[in-house]
Amino acid sequence: MTRFGWTLAIATLVVLAIGLAGWQLSAAIADSQPDGDVEVETQMQDDYETKAREELTPAQYDVCFLKGTEPPGSGEYYQHFEPGTYQCIVCGNELFPSETKYDSGTGWPAFYDAVGSDALATQTDTSEGMIRVEVMCGKCGAHLGHVFPDGPEPTGQRYCINSLALTFVPAEDDAAPPATR
Ligand code: FE
Repeated sequence: MTRFGWTLAIATLVVLAIGLAGWQLSAAIADSQPDGDVEVETQMQDDYETKAREELTPAQYDVCFLKGTEPPGSGEYYQHFEPGTYQCIVCGNELFPSETKYDSGTGWPAFYDAVGSDALATQTDTSEGMIRVEVMCGKCGAHLGHVFPDGPEPTGQRYCINSLALTFVPAEDDAAPPATR
């Protein structure tokens, strides 16, 4: 084989190796997705953002629309364990039942499951030098937090959620119509 031939062969092998590594990384990320959740590229809806700018506090807006994170231990729902349902602060979508909430010891509210399989949307987040799975509202696309595969049974998932992205409806008020925004 000519020198050019060898160079071409080696270059082809390098390209194949890089491609294989990328494919394995994608597969690993896909495997870490919790069952029942669908990886959706959710488009933030303009009407929700317009309302949110008027109605949310700057801290709530920072979390929901700029993917901010509240300081650990600061959120009003971190050590909150009343019976009821946690909803999206932006659109009122029901997200987490209180039965799935537990103390993860991290400083943020943690849940091991959502209200239903379409309550949330997830996507891969490669920001801040980490590979994580971002959790968003399945209805309006607001950023909620991240999900990690180190939660308790039965799901083994830990939905690590910002209090600022949530509003709580006590169980006795569940018969009332959901909050509309
Ligand atoms: Fe929402």
